[in-house]
Amino acid sequence: MKTNISDLSHLKIETFSAQIRGSIVIPSDSNYDEERKVYNGMISKHPGMIVKCVDVADVIASVNFARDNNLLISVRGGGHNVGGLGLCDDGLAIDLSGIKFVRTDVANKTVRVGGGNLWGEVDHATHPFGLAVPAGIVSTTGVAGLTLGGGVGYLSRKYGLTIDNLLEADMVLADGSFVTVNAERNRDLFWAIRGGGGNFGIVTSFKFQAYEVKNVFAGPTLWPIEKIEEIMEWYHEFINNAQDELNGFIAAMVVPGPPFPEHLHNKQFCGIVWCYSGDMSKAEESFKPILAKEPIFEHVGEMPYPTVQSLFDGLLPSGMQWYWRADFFNELGPEIRAAHFEYGSKIPTPLSQMHLYPISGAAGRVANDKTPWAYRDAKYAGVIGGADPDPVNVEKMTKWCKDYWDALHPYSSGGAYSNFMMDEGQERVKASYKKNYDRLVSIKNKYDPQNLFQVNQNIKPSL
Ligand SMILES: Cc1cc2nc3c(=O)[nH]c(=O)nc-3n(C[C@H](O)[C@H](O)[C@H](O)COP(=O)(O)OP(=O)(O)OC[C@H]3O[C@@H](n4cnc5c(N)ncnc54)[C@H](O)[C@@H]3O)c2cc1C
Repeated sequence: MKTNISDLSHLKIETFSAQIRGSIVIPSDSNYDEERKVYNGMISKHPGMIVKCVDVADVIASVNFARDNNLLISVRGGGHNVGGLGLCDDGLAIDLSGIKFVRTDVANKTVRVGGGNLWGEVDHATHPFGLAVPAGIVSTTGVAGLTLGGGVGYLSRKYGLTIDNLLEADMVLADGSFVTVNAERNRDLFWAIRGGGGNFGIVTSFKFQAYEVKNVFAGPTLWPIEKIEEIMEWYHEFINNAQDELNGFIAAMVVPGPPFPEHLHNKQFCGIVWCYSGDMSKAEESFKPILAKEPIFEHVGEMPYPTVQSLFDGLLPSGMQWYWRADFFNELGPEIRAAHFEYGSKIPTPLSQMHLYPISGAAGRVANDKTPWAYRDAKYAGVIGGADPDPVNVEKMTKWCKDYWDALHPYSSGGAYSNFMMDEGQERVKASYKKNYDRLVSIKNKYDPQNLFQVNQNIKPSL
């Protein structure tokens, strides 16, 4: 049983507050409701206290305070996690949004990033130098949560997952100590945080490898949903044999409105959002086989990398209702394609979607045990996402997600990408790390035997 913060003495709270250079928000504060919001508007947790850290010392003081007083801890990076894992009820919510900095080392093509940064801020700081770090597909996700879970996105086929490009991290551990982890120092922790989530400590800064990516050739192609089976069959062959420079995730989706043309609005489609990061003079040639499939709509062209990264930001504002289900897949066989047609034809709200992200190219050439991310041999990380601004639609979009997932799961590889899961229980966490789970448990036993960091896809200590 954890202690409730409201049961602590005034003196204890005052003593802790005096150690914090950032700010502290408690339930009686007028900004409390604003500060306890996360990206998913469906999440309504009530932490006993939110500590808005501005430096490592604030993080160390918060960890020590929580541990010494038996408080539940949550850690918020970008607050984007659909399961609301950046927040907790009653305990201490450690908010890193005040620890933001991005320093681009142009000569060495590396980038140092704060534990509370968002990806758009990284893109903004690296783009003027013609550099980019492989991340996801929207700019508003947190660097920390996305990286610690793996990081799948537009550059994965060319440069690997985000974790494949993590060079170093600074961390505050459960005992309050501060460590740097990299390929030489604290190698067990360096292995564990490349996919094992926030289970091992709080990362206050990351150092990434960056690459020469200035402009990309990118954008969506759409086909009527009636063609999804044909397009998926073609896509499976095409993307798994494509050059690494070409990436594209396939979706069952509705065109929700502008900026798409009006005649497409509110209709269901099979969409593929492409991103080619190779030589621009060869881009149009690379897209010839795609355009030969005669999409009903296409909007592909050369654009700055930060533009493709923020293409969907406007459609997906913070505060909507979200429900997700996920799995990995090796194949897109006839039964799978038929299920995509069935459920893609009855998408319940305009912003609900199904995405399959390719795990091929560079991301797929990494051994399953090189990092905790155990599904390098899967071809796709899939996610079915219900989304809508109106809470009234939660029930129908949740049912659609669950039914869609039930239809596909028998054909899946077993586990799911941890960052695409909500709270699905311990067996799903184990399935997602497969043979790497036991090694994660032994590292958890060593660094966090009391399970201080448990508001995450939890690796439970076995001691
Ligand atoms: C619209 C949308 C698009 C997405 N697109 C992609 C995508 O393209 N590719 C992809 O891979 N994922 C994607 N995701 C999933 C995303 O990776 C996860 O939601 C991720 O958890 C977000 O990280 P965050 O820091 O914003 O989350 P938070 O909610 O802040 O935290 C998530 C988890 O990470 C832990 N954590 C956060 N910060 C730290 C820290 N500094 N140190 C230790 N632990 C920490 C938290 O404790 C929590 O368990 C998307 C999510 C959404 C909602």
